[in-house]
Amino acid sequence: MSKIMDGREISNTILNRIKKDILDKIDKGLRRPSLAVIYVGNDKGSLAYIKMIKRKSEKIGIDCNIHKFHSDITEEKLLNEMDKLNKDSLVDGILLQLPLPKKFNHNLIISNINPNKDVDGVHYSNAGKLYQGDEVIIPCTPKGIMRLLEEYKVEIESKNVVVIGRSNILGKPISMLMLNRNATVTMCHSKTKNLRNVTMNADVIISCVGKVRLIEKDMVKEGSIIIDAGINDVDGKIVGDVNYDEVEQKASLITPVPGGVGPMTIAMLLENVMEGYSKNGTKTI
Ligand code: NAP
Repeated sequence: MSKIMDGREISNTILNRIKKDILDKIDKGLRRPSLAVIYVGNDKGSLAYIKMIKRKSEKIGIDCNIHKFHSDITEEKLLNEMDKLNKDSLVDGILLQLPLPKKFNHNLIISNINPNKDVDGVHYSNAGKLYQGDEVIIPCTPKGIMRLLEEYKVEIESKNVVVIGRSNILGKPISMLMLNRNATVTMCHSKTKNLRNVTMNADVIISCVGKVRLIEKDMVKEGSIIIDAGINDVDGKIVGDVNYDEVEQKASLITPVPGGVGPMTIAMLLENVMEGYSKNGTKTI
């Protein structure tokens, strides 16, 4: 078996399965699932990502509406716009593209997403449940990483897992998911001293930082599993946090960038929309 974890192929299989499921539902007279993406600002990278979500959604039969707001929108108006989507029975999932411009109270906006439609699991009730071992809505990228590991039949229990990065959408939830599966988890961050000392003991390294060549060959042990969630733009080329060509020689399994974790994120997002659709009621219109 190849040591390269092919997120693109697994993602395509998942998306084809969802597409078939939607076609079956439409044949039965049911409505299409629907995703609302909320975006405030004008960042080119975020806009490209959102367009990609729309393209992928519509390719498999999910309606995707982008609600784009100028960064001068008031907090009150944004909350009102969110409320409309929260109450709209034809909206199954709401994705709030983060980060928001600095002027907003992030906690307030995040807590205003209807938790049942919170397809990236960022609402406190969903995050809180995850930390209590109740995995109701799992954030897309951590869920994608878990699914990749499942597909490659990686046993998590009792493994030493080192997660680098501690953001609310990535580092913390993936650590919790690993802990829920009885891994021994070490979390590292920008204040961690001598990262190599920690990573050298890892059976699985999950890098969630956004720093080119953070993980070098001399930082990983022979046979370890390397998951690279990092996305870095180097002169227009997308690379991860791991020095792939060198680390690959020592790894037993490794994700490429692009083509590893990224495509899994989209697949899990659309899977979470389908979960919202089932909960919301798949009635005919
Ligand atoms: P973030 O909120 O900026 O968090 C980065 C984390 O990295 C922080 O916890 C930070 O530590 C830590 N860090 C920074 N420098 C470090 C260093 N030298 N050594 C160890 N830790 C360090 O970013 P994020 O949203 O979690 O995203 C992380 C990366 O994943 C980015 O490249 C992002 O583009 C990518 N990403 C990919 C996907 C995907 O689908 N593939 C999805 C989401 C994000 P402190 O907490 O101490 O500051």
